[in-house]
Amino acid sequence: MPKMNGLTKRVRSKPFRPKGYGGGAYSAGASPSNIAATASRQASAAATNKLPTRALDEVMSILVSVQWDCWRFMLPAKPLLDLDVAVVSHGDLDHWHQNFWEKDLLLVPWWLRIPDRFSCLKNIYPVGSTASVGQLEFKVLGKTMLEAALHRKVDTHAYWWLVRNKRRNVSTLFVGDLDLSDVDALQEFINHYSRRCNIRCLLLPSFGGVMGHGARTPAELQRSVQNIVQKLKGELGIAVGSLPHPVNAGWADFTATRI
Ligand SMILES: [Zn+2]
Repeated sequence: MPKMNGLTKRVRSKPFRPKGYGGGAYSAGASPSNIAATASRQASAAATNKLPTRALDEVMSILVSVQWDCWRFMLPAKPLLDLDVAVVSHGDLDHWHQNFWEKDLLLVPWWLRIPDRFSCLKNIYPVGSTASVGQLEFKVLGKTMLEAALHRKVDTHAYWWLVRNKRRNVSTLFVGDLDLSDVDALQEFINHYSRRCNIRCLLLPSFGGVMGHGARTPAELQRSVQNIVQKLKGELGIAVGSLPHPVNAGWADFTATRI
């Protein structure tokens, strides 16, 4: 683990709190009571999704403990870390944020090429397989690892992260970005590993009008993500958090804010 910088001490004595609400479900100027009401509506949506309340609390604690690329969750849960930590899924610049300079730790797959404008960052924690930070364990799922797990060729758009509360053994799978062809791999991975790894939540980009990503039309990708979400929620009772990319999605149990 890299040496902690001066900010660490400050953050340890004063845990990270998001400074503002940049849009999405929590629009700028929203009052704390509105935020709590929205969060509790979201929480109850997830609860109807067969997730026991205790598991729901544990999932929310993981979600609020980390910045996921450029997204954060504003939920009524206590963070599990007293460090300001972000986890990075891939090198596309629209997933890198200026606030990465202020993080105590930036967890990055060790083989990832860091974008030039971030090449001087001193807080990068390169992860080859698994890293432990406080109560959380971060496992990066690279292509080789996914191929070994799924017994087939896989070339995902982004690297996936499995983030586990070690004390409670509850995990969240973070997929920061994906191509149409990744959707099948994701379904296969979850079918095989959701029980073994106790995956209780999946974080996915919610696309709207996005071109590329291997889809012939923007609606194709949007539909494909929606289908997998419905299956996971219906059959496995996994809660789903959306990362607006750029729009919110109706299928989300939790909606992140792009900061
Ligand atoms: Zn991307």
